[in-house]
Amino acid sequence: MYYWPGCEVDILGVRPTHCEEYVYNPSLKNFTKSIENSINALSNGSADMAAVYYEQIDVDGHHHGPLSPQLQASIHSLDIAFQTLNQRIKEKNLHNDLNVILFSDHGMTQLKWMEKIIELELYINMSHIIKMMDRGPVVSLWPKQAQFEAIYQRLSVLKHMKVYKIQEIPDRYHYKKGRFVSPLTLVADPGWFITESKSKLPYWNNDTGEPKGWQHGWHGYDNEFVDMRGFFLAQGPDFKQNLRAGPIRAVDVYNVMCHTLGIQALPNNGSWPRVEYMLSGGAPLYGPVHTLMLGLLLLALQA
Ligand SMILES: [Zn+2]
Repeated sequence: MYYWPGCEVDILGVRPTHCEEYVYNPSLKNFTKSIENSINALSNGSADMAAVYYEQIDVDGHHHGPLSPQLQASIHSLDIAFQTLNQRIKEKNLHNDLNVILFSDHGMTQLKWMEKIIELELYINMSHIIKMMDRGPVVSLWPKQAQFEAIYQRLSVLKHMKVYKIQEIPDRYHYKKGRFVSPLTLVADPGWFITESKSKLPYWNNDTGEPKGWQHGWHGYDNEFVDMRGFFLAQGPDFKQNLRAGPIRAVDVYNVMCHTLGIQALPNNGSWPRVEYMLSGGAPLYGPVHTLMLGLLLLALQA
């Protein structure tokens, strides 16, 4: 596994044979190299599955926005890396032995940082907040008990944001029963950004010394907002060809991966009927089939 978050820890007592630990920003060269290494390991039989995670598209999406020429340029370089991948598959004659699954774990939407912003300190006394986690589309708040109701009331009337007590969090988020859910959860409307105060925002990607390195893209909004959708692409002996599938959910990918590896999936929240029709069905013809997964944090698919 290459740069895959969590590959360096035991999960149910198991670790991958090889783990190149997650780093925030591996280069395109690192990415291409890990694809090459994966193909080698899969073709010489030292691995049954390889996974590569690449975050540059997310970083550029945040800094420049999903519609920016900068993001287009990084998607173009990704395209070149995938040409290398297809080239190696061809050279090693792996078409019938290798499934390749490409997917992102979220989308990205344009953001007017500093313009569409909700500064909590303008509406509530921050000394009444014991803890605040995160900033952006979703913020978790732990108010002092004595001020809880007043804070809830004050934030509830604000525009461009919803405030939920735990029991009010919509079921479709599959979130409210979590152990670490805060007494109040704030969810911004798409394109809006919640923070304590503008002055506390960091300025990424800024060489000027001036607060100009604003963010132009963000994710984490309501998952029904279409911009939040990721993508899913697959090729190989276990998949039908030239099939354009309907939307699936992130939790469905696990079932697909297990199927291609011949592993019995553990109980999970994915839906088999949502993915089954993508699969070619027949048993592999040429011995063991391998899987290469490429996870890309973000990719906005826009015309
Ligand atoms: Zn991100």
